[in-house]
Amino acid sequence: LPARYGAGEKSVWVEYIQLAAEYKPAVNLGQGFPDYHAPKHVTKALGEIAISENPLLNQYTRGFGHPPLIQSLSKVYSPLIGKEINPQNEILVTYGAYEALYSAILGHVEEGDEVIVIEPFFDCYDFMIKSAGGIPRFIALNPKKTTGTVTSADWVLDEKELESLFSSKTKMIILNTPHNPLGKVFTRQELELIANLCKKHNVLCLSDEVYEWMVFEPVQHIRIATLPGMWERTITVGSAGKTFSVTGWKTGWAYGPAALMFNLQVVHQNCVYTCCTPIQEAISRSFEYELARRDSPDCYFKALARELLPKRDFLVNTLRENGFNPTIPEAGYFIIADWTKLANKIDLSSEGDKYKDYKFTKKFAKETGVLTIPPTAFYSEGHKHLGENFARFCFIKKDENLSLAGKLMKEWN
Ligand code: PMP
Ligand code: GLN
Repeated sequence: LPARYGAGEKSVWVEYIQLAAEYKPAVNLGQGFPDYHAPKHVTKALGEIAISENPLLNQYTRGFGHPPLIQSLSKVYSPLIGKEINPQNEILVTYGAYEALYSAILGHVEEGDEVIVIEPFFDCYDFMIKSAGGIPRFIALNPKKTTGTVTSADWVLDEKELESLFSSKTKMIILNTPHNPLGKVFTRQELELIANLCKKHNVLCLSDEVYEWMVFEPVQHIRIATLPGMWERTITVGSAGKTFSVTGWKTGWAYGPAALMFNLQVVHQNCVYTCCTPIQEAISRSFEYELARRDSPDCYFKALARELLPKRDFLVNTLRENGFNPTIPEAGYFIIADWTKLANKIDLSSEGDKYKDYKFTKKFAKETGVLTIPPTAFYSEGHKHLGENFARFCFIKKDENLSLAGKLMKEWN
């Protein structure tokens, strides 16, 4: 294996999806995906396209994005960004947000370039930076308090530490807002700090915003590309899987100024070349459907967060009743919960893993039937201890499954 791939360690997803297949947990609150149907109009569109009279809807389409989809994406994002986004050269449709991140990192990072990564981070960032020959520089979000009511807004960066990471070697910072796994939505003040450092040191910002539509009122998602002087240096990433609750469709996109997007196109055209046509056509139709009811409360971009809020609250309460201290997320569909108080209830000695959260989540799954994700997967080697006392729970699940998780935890307790 080439050295840039490390030892080829299994990603947490490969390992925990295999666990799910082996243990068949009663409730899977691990990997982030809904266990119920996407909006009817979305899946219906794909069905109609598959059997459409137009044979071309099942053939290759334009490499950088199916024409109707790039038009729809421009219509969705131009008003949000406050500038007309050119669908031809400022948008790239990718194989999931994963490939958007990959094309952005491989397309911009050169051997020896430094990339600032905020911890906890979506685990693939680290690997992608290293495969491009770059050097990740990590900075952790830390909770201002660990007892009592903790929300994702309590997890903050140390300004001085962040400043100290920026230098002439810095090529890029990766921002993830709303954040996986904390559910943190970066505030305008926090984004301004990052933006000012990017401008001062001529650094690019790769902004992973796949949870952009799942923000709980009154919190507001701010796109860093809208801050003064930031459009020019920002590549923003989105995901149809997250937007329309169809994670299996694996289609995403990146948008930004043409000069930056060119580099992503070069990577994309030589590995993926073009994404699945019927899926892109269906996503375009789904966006058009939502755009037509953009101001109605039924618009999925509003309904989704409304539907998730009681699920979040139910799981927060359930976790509290069962000895966890959850961080209340302001967005997204994950909860990070501190299990320190349960340490004396669970014997981790039978688990061979290196980190406590891996041991805890495996033993907890065996004893309760509830599968979760170990957050040290989202930290660099030197900072793994920061995630060891937590487990990540996903709450975009049927109410009956969340209730069952509650019942199983209570019985175990
Ligand atoms: N970024 C973050 C923060 C994620 O949680 C995920 C998982 N959906 C992705 C990117 C990848 O998204 P996709 O499934 O569209 O590749
Ligand atoms: N983004 C989802 C999560 O964080 C899925 C990740 C994956 O399957 N690689 O759970």
